[in-house]
Amino acid sequence: MKIFPLSLAWSILSCLCSTLFSAGLPEPFRILPQPQNIIVLNGPGLQSGRLKHILLKGDFSRPVTGDILSQLTVDKAEGKGSLTLILDPALASVPSEEGYILTVAGDKAEIVSKGEAGLFYGCQTLEQLLEDARDYQKPVPACKISDFPVLSYRAVHFDVKHHLDQMGYYYESIDRLARYKINAVVFEFEDKLRYLRQPLVGAPQSISLDEMAALTRYARERHIEITPLVQGLGHATFILKHQEYEYLRELSWNTWAFCPLHEGTYQVLFDLYRDAIRATPGSKYLHIGGDEIGNIGLCPRCKPMADKEGMLSLSLYWLKRVCEFAGENGRIPIFWDDMPLKHAGVYETTYTDEITESDAAASWKEGTPRLDDLLEGFPKNCVYMRWNYSMARQPGNILALDWYKSRGLKAMVATATNAEGGMLFQADERDKGANSSGIITIRSFLRLAAEKDINGMLCTAWDDKSPHMENYWRGFIAAAEYSWSPSGRSLDEFDKAWLQREFALSLPDYADMNNQLQEGSVFWYDAYFKNGGRMDDENALQSLTRLEHWLPPLEGQENRVFDYTSKLIELPDPKEPGAWSRKYKDRLDKALVENGRYPELSGKLKNLQNISGRNRYFWELSGALYDLQITAPRLLLALKECDTPDKAKFATARAHLQEVQKEFGDAWANVLSVYAKTRFISYPETYVPDRYFHFASQREDLSWMIQAEEMFHGMIDKWLADR
Ligand SMILES: [Zn+2]
Repeated sequence: MKIFPLSLAWSILSCLCSTLFSAGLPEPFRILPQPQNIIVLNGPGLQSGRLKHILLKGDFSRPVTGDILSQLTVDKAEGKGSLTLILDPALASVPSEEGYILTVAGDKAEIVSKGEAGLFYGCQTLEQLLEDARDYQKPVPACKISDFPVLSYRAVHFDVKHHLDQMGYYYESIDRLARYKINAVVFEFEDKLRYLRQPLVGAPQSISLDEMAALTRYARERHIEITPLVQGLGHATFILKHQEYEYLRELSWNTWAFCPLHEGTYQVLFDLYRDAIRATPGSKYLHIGGDEIGNIGLCPRCKPMADKEGMLSLSLYWLKRVCEFAGENGRIPIFWDDMPLKHAGVYETTYTDEITESDAAASWKEGTPRLDDLLEGFPKNCVYMRWNYSMARQPGNILALDWYKSRGLKAMVATATNAEGGMLFQADERDKGANSSGIITIRSFLRLAAEKDINGMLCTAWDDKSPHMENYWRGFIAAAEYSWSPSGRSLDEFDKAWLQREFALSLPDYADMNNQLQEGSVFWYDAYFKNGGRMDDENALQSLTRLEHWLPPLEGQENRVFDYTSKLIELPDPKEPGAWSRKYKDRLDKALVENGRYPELSGKLKNLQNISGRNRYFWELSGALYDLQITAPRLLLALKECDTPDKAKFATARAHLQEVQKEFGDAWANVLSVYAKTRFISYPETYVPDRYFHFASQREDLSWMIQAEEMFHGMIDKWLADR
């Protein structure tokens, strides 16, 4: 490898410029994630459009760059208009190969790093600066940025349990993640990979191994690893739903869990792992899931061991086998850590906010010897992923991280873009202490990880209710921000930076607008239900119950017939006009508020779609979802008009009600057409249904979202026909 010394003349030039500020760049420049150190220098900066050439010093290929830097042509001579990239393995002033030093002055720029990843990230930073220079017509100020990430594994989650996006969307997503210096995607394949060794498992519309390998290589060129996730012991309905695998189920009629002592379990799982490894060439990790197992230790093979050594012995036996396999195949296994903590009796302390610090300490005092007894059974090559989707400051959660650390086990943290998993607008409450939600929880857990010297994180994006992926991006970008710079920006500053980078716009009242939209989502979830809403387990309009891992198994429940309309509110009784409106007064009052907000909020969303410089699709989707959620308050208000003894008024109200019903149909059709721009909105007919308690597993198209509407509108049609 040839090593070039730093350009002497350039270094002297940099030193001559005295420091003006160290408090960050002036408006309107915003780099996301926030760099560790920015020094603004004296003298002229870099005008938009002035960079013409790129020089490579060192033994490396030209990095993949964004729209602006990819225009530069390769040149040999340094000077005005040149971007010089220097690979200097001896560089001591940044701590990792992902770190870099970017210097901008006098219409040229230089990036030095000891690794190719660092050069790539330096280019991402420069690209953002040049975007701002172009968008706001101001030169990039002369500056020196020294930067590196605090956490070294920075992953987001693509969970395709209940949907699949188009391949083009995944490629675009990789480009977008690279902009924010995310360096891994945990791709939870479930049945959306066309496994060759167990061809029954891959769904008819699944991604081929070659297609995934191509995406993996594309991602690697952008310094992103695709880490495959294939669930094993529990969460296995996508495999065990097939009759052909019935012999591997712990309970023959229950598709949730494998029998951990059946050798066939390992034959099938290892086949799936081999294919997942082949589909992600060169990746370092293999995520093996392993959470929420439940319902094992029940078959004649396992019961004796469960009775004698406890259920966890079965989980740990499975974990040992799969970790050995991962090691033999050159991968580091990653494991969700809830089962051992549950067994030790400390799991509750990691997520319940009601437990005091002293109660948590007492619980851990009792549980620690239990965990220590099992320590030998904890594979040492495994990464234990501690998940917590709240503020994550529960004393027990902190003690869990301490236990891993003190026992020499490697831990990472997992936060969530959206703990609720709602389909529409996402909660973002910043002033509720331990009960806060949204990006503040991401920041909180990532700061804790940094305090505890944990160097890896995953931002999960669960598909249980299968929101559109765009709804997850703000959280992904927040995770990029706070895993790179945990103690960086305030949340308000983050919002400014997010809006600028994603859309090239500023919107001072974004948080307020989102909160209003989200209140409307909550109304939509609950609008037609007697108790709770469509996302509550008790109201899940599902044909299979009791497949939940947390409940004792109950054979026969899966075939029960139930009239789910009994969970919905009744319609106005013509014999008692006005009674319905009185009974549902609170709900109708809220509906009035929601409907009153519509003109302004809808106008804002349309305007944002028009004025955004990038990613207009996000606002198009937001508008479509808003038009869907507004149909709930409108339908209730139209029913209220019908709740009258006056025949003439009823005739008018009836026509209005039918109009609102039509509005719902149109709004839904629009949601489908907007979703279809990036994802497949239905499964092929040959798909074998995979039904369990997940909301989005109830149908093979998007209509699980509107089952409540289907039933409620059906009730209204019948009610109108009888009038
Ligand atoms: Zn068994």
